[in-house]
Amino acid sequence: MITAHTYQVRGLHCASCAGIVERALRGRLGVSTAEVNYSSGTARVSFDEAQVQPKDLEQLIEPLGYALVIEQGHDHAHGGMDHQADLSVELASLRTKVLASLPAAAFAIFVMSWHLLAEGGVVDAMPPGFHKISLGLLPVLAVYVLVYTGRNYLRALAQFVRHGVANMDTLIGLGTVAAFVYSVVLSIFSPWLKKYLVVSDGYYDVTIVVITFVTLGKYLETRARLKTGDALQSLLGLQAKTALVRREGVEVEIPASEVTPGDLLVVKPGAKIAVDGVVVEGASHVDESLITGEPAPVKKEPGSTVVAGTLNTTGAFVFRATKVGGETLLAHIIHMVGEAQSSKAPVQSLADKIAAVFVPVALGIAVTALVLWLALGTGSLGFAHALALGLSSFVCVLVIACPCALGLATPAAVTVGVGQAARAGILIKDAATLQKLGQVNVVVLDKTGTLTRGRPELVEFRALTDMGEDRALALLAALEKNSEHPLARAIATRATENKISLPVVTSFEALKGRGVRGIIDGEEYFAGSELLACERGLVLDGLNLDEETRRGRTPVLLGSAHGLLAVALVADAPKEMAKEAVARLYALGLRVVMLTGDNENTARYIAEQVGITEVTAHALPADKLAKIKELQANGLVVAMAGDGVNDAPALALADVGIAMGDGADAAIETAGITLLHGDIAKLVKAVSLSRRTMRVIRQNLFWAFAFNLIGLPLAAGLFYPWFGWLLSPMFAGVAMALSSVTVVTNALRLKIQKI
Ligand code: ADP
Ligand code: MG
Repeated sequence: MITAHTYQVRGLHCASCAGIVERALRGRLGVSTAEVNYSSGTARVSFDEAQVQPKDLEQLIEPLGYALVIEQGHDHAHGGMDHQADLSVELASLRTKVLASLPAAAFAIFVMSWHLLAEGGVVDAMPPGFHKISLGLLPVLAVYVLVYTGRNYLRALAQFVRHGVANMDTLIGLGTVAAFVYSVVLSIFSPWLKKYLVVSDGYYDVTIVVITFVTLGKYLETRARLKTGDALQSLLGLQAKTALVRREGVEVEIPASEVTPGDLLVVKPGAKIAVDGVVVEGASHVDESLITGEPAPVKKEPGSTVVAGTLNTTGAFVFRATKVGGETLLAHIIHMVGEAQSSKAPVQSLADKIAAVFVPVALGIAVTALVLWLALGTGSLGFAHALALGLSSFVCVLVIACPCALGLATPAAVTVGVGQAARAGILIKDAATLQKLGQVNVVVLDKTGTLTRGRPELVEFRALTDMGEDRALALLAALEKNSEHPLARAIATRATENKISLPVVTSFEALKGRGVRGIIDGEEYFAGSELLACERGLVLDGLNLDEETRRGRTPVLLGSAHGLLAVALVADAPKEMAKEAVARLYALGLRVVMLTGDNENTARYIAEQVGITEVTAHALPADKLAKIKELQANGLVVAMAGDGVNDAPALALADVGIAMGDGADAAIETAGITLLHGDIAKLVKAVSLSRRTMRVIRQNLFWAFAFNLIGLPLAAGLFYPWFGWLLSPMFAGVAMALSSVTVVTNALRLKIQKI
């Protein structure tokens, strides 16, 4: 059996590392897919457990310099936490390294600037004494920086020599070591070489400055990456550590992980709710803003549901635990956000492909540049000068070719985008969904529960025969008690309120999009829409249904073989936010369609109330599918929002399925997007956030590509023969550091804009 697992990977220093690990994993027999994400430091691997064990995978990548973290029971909820912790450790170590080599770099830059300025006649030449000191000091500093700050690059170079795998660190290692070795050769042999070469002071400064800047860039990048993941971090922080449980009348404090379903939990004012459950006594208001994005505290009384991670305000209450541990809504959200942040957006695939071949290509270009410099330059510049410039190009190409920015362009934006969405109560399943949502141009909205509150009320009930109202309501409610349709709940609720005892129903059946049927006391009854009544041959004259439906009421007709028995009129008010949300969807340039199984008049009434002009009513589930297919056939990208119960097939078919979650609903992982608290206003936020995220991704990809596209020929010295342009290896180091810092910072911009 093939199963998918997500593991933490340690030692991913750059985007090309992800490619190396990915290829190694994919190459293993029994592994069907492997996706490694540099940004989140995770590997998603699907493999056949009969052929491969996690241990094998671990051993596979270990010699390449990486570690796969195999946790017992691999609880990914904590993977995010581990990754953040890993990043923090890395950040501290990078900081030390940078601080340790900054003085050396400052000295190298000082000496270099003096030489340059003196050459230009701006300042006097360096006093011979100081020159001597610098000549003696620079090699020492270079060794120190190379061995201390640059030890990862040296290690990567060693891996390359031993295993033939090259990552970005290898490029830096090769470049700086080459500059160093060249300089050593010059220093040692200068007395003999003087005859043939114009001897310079070598490139010790290049080694020092490049390593320092690249490490500094890495430090800034890591600091920014830590920030991209802090939405998940704060979700993890919402988990309560302990819970106050009432057992045999006494209150005891136990670890939250030991609460079992059925336990009674006591919630004091200001306390955090530890697990999901239903209130049994007391009352209060609970702040759910950090989970659902709902700004105002929500009223809780017996019967209300509460979810883990929310905060009690001033009241006190007791609730019965229903879902604990990994089953709570919070745990599902954490899991989902973690998975989404480590998934890959389709736009990234090109960048990944390029990053994967970049390292060998860069090596090739670097060697070619060196050879060409020697071959073409020796004639006009002389061997020594051509070698010096060629080597400078070689180093430059290796440094600038690092596709770091390319690898970070998309994941950094996805991580921030998904995290920001989660903060607003919008759960996005993966990066692909985020990308698709940004391209949506038509939004299809279900009526009941999406545009309306989904809590319809029975406003009128008429018995049409002489059996009496109570008996008729009892029959109808007995049927509807078995259905989970909102209309059904309205009717069943009324019967309970009136304390009517219900007869037993057998052979119950839900007639999709029409109503229900069942047998009571040996006779078949059915209840549902006008369509259903007509199908069963009932005549609906004289009921004034037309007038009622125009006022937004939905009729539920009860009938049997003896004819029509009763009519219930049910009304469901539009959500408060619906009208404004619809207006804003139009403002985003989206086409909005209301799709409902209800009758035309009721549908039109609600549509008018919320400002929608395009309505498709009387839609059976198959018609809903057909409508979405039709829109897609017109080349439109369709988002469909529904309450997810009977709209599941349509949600699945739409390019983006949006479920209106109502709190403790754990089925959130099936929809592409879940709007917690069933809030349609969040749909507007979700669309604009995804558009903005996509814009940032496009900008990032553009700049990252442009950087490498312009930088490479410049570094190779392609423009030198014509314009005399040649990049200094130090600027290459600075540029390369800047490029990755820029893409991550650009992604962080998504955080400051309010959604
Ligand atoms: P919607 O698009 O509003 O979710 P559905 O497909 O759920 O519509 O249902 C369409 C219509 O079928 C409802 O408007 C109602 O008239 C009828 N119907 C469906 N289920 C029931 C039920 N359990 N009881 C009564 N009527 C029902
Ligand atoms: Mg529905």
